[in-house]
Amino acid sequence: MTAPERPDDCLFCRIVAGDVPAEIVLAGETTVAFRDLNPQAPTHVLVIPRSHYENAADLASHDSSGLADMFTTAAQVAEREGLTGGYRTVFNTGAGAGQTVFHAHLHVLGGRPLGWPPG
Ligand code: AMP
Ligand code: ZN
Repeated sequence: MTAPERPDDCLFCRIVAGDVPAEIVLAGETTVAFRDLNPQAPTHVLVIPRSHYENAADLASHDSSGLADMFTTAAQVAEREGLTGGYRTVFNTGAGAGQTVFHAHLHVLGGRPLGWPPG
């Protein structure tokens, strides 16, 4: 399958390309994990696919194994970060749910008690 085109103006594509600096936690074959600039928990890492998809559903419908890679990477991040008490994975989809960057990304949060339901 051919990878989708990489928009020049996509912040996370630019992080994948190394054009925008980020604190990389894990760089895999299909995913990159880096620390969120505005952390909401002691560990707050974003896992992104190297290819550009607008959101999780877009990724899932075009590349289901790529979606699985996102969760495998999240588990590796959690292990490296010592999140033995558990961690939360979140995809925000659409502006109404708080999505601000339209390149699929999985939030990995942990290191403090996480309330439920989320805000
Ligand atoms: P969302 O609101 O779900 O679209 O998540 C986007 C996330 O990207 C937010 O938590 C931001 O803090 C984070 N973010 C924005 N710009 C950067 C950046 N340059 N490096 C790391 N994280 C970023
Ligand atoms: Zn992108």
